[in-house]
Amino acid sequence: MAAQILDGKAMAQAIQQELAEQTAEYIQNTATVPTLAAVLAGDDPASDVYVRNKRKDCERVGMESVLHRLPAETSEDDLLALIAKLNKDQAVHGILVQLPLPKGIREQRILQAISPNKDVDAFHPENVGRLVQGRPRFVPCTPYGVQQLLIRCGIETAGKHAVVIGRSDIVGKPMAILLSARGAGGDATVTICHSRTADLAAHTRQADILVVAAGRPKMVTADMVKPGAVVVDVGIHRTEQGLVGDVDFDSVREVAGYITPVPGGVGPLTRAMLLLNTLTAARESLA
Ligand code: NDP
Repeated sequence: MAAQILDGKAMAQAIQQELAEQTAEYIQNTATVPTLAAVLAGDDPASDVYVRNKRKDCERVGMESVLHRLPAETSEDDLLALIAKLNKDQAVHGILVQLPLPKGIREQRILQAISPNKDVDAFHPENVGRLVQGRPRFVPCTPYGVQQLLIRCGIETAGKHAVVIGRSDIVGKPMAILLSARGAGGDATVTICHSRTADLAAHTRQADILVVAAGRPKMVTADMVKPGAVVVDVGIHRTEQGLVGDVDFDSVREVAGYITPVPGGVGPLTRAMLLLNTLTAARESLA
């Protein structure tokens, strides 16, 4: 029997609806509008689309977004000066610096300059540390979206063997931390795989829950998946056949119990979690 589809798009819409209600309540109680400052440096067309979509999402749930567009030749000091200004601005609750940054600008230096209280992407070392300690302020949007998907679809993670392919700071590592943390959507036994893992398929075949964030189109095939497993595909690749993920959807759906599609799986949830983090930042700013 073909796998059940985990519809991230529908779930993201439901979450946005909840956030719209919570945002309206926040505005009514505080007379301030949760506000996201988006910083877009350079002219990468994909980044342009991502930022535009994130701003549209804000609008849809009643949040404010302010775009700061900087030319590709912006210096690191100019960018740091803008971040310092946004850090101080009480009308700004969340700061998002769209990656990648133009050549010559050190990403780590910029991300560390963002106030941890406004760091809605959760990339600042303080927020990473808090996540590792199990007391997060913000959770990185993509793994947070995956965790919400599992929880809201009623997929049990406790005691299960979760295998994560990928160890990036943005997806793989925080995903593994969340799945192994105590509580809902956690308590799993986690294996992290990467490009140096020997016999990847031997690991993936043991997974009750397989999260794939390798950045390799269709690399996970049916023979790598345990029958009935939950397969979450984080990958996104623009190909001649349209958007595809890291999972060979057509073959894997015949083996898996549940599977996320691409598009319409993890992507929309990532965007919804950015809104959730922005509302959290606005709420925390009152504390
Ligand atoms: P990175 O390139 O930063 O990390 C990829 C990871 O996969 C690395 O840890 C790498 O190992 C590992 N890897 C690569 N090839 C293999 C292989 N053959 N076998 C096992 N492991 C492998 O990517 P990201 O984590 O940033 O993103 C992953 C994918 O998710 C991309 O397609 C990206 O576009 C997508 N993405 C989607 C989002 C969404 O909202 N849906 C959000 C963010 C990303 P090593 O460390 O050894 O190099």
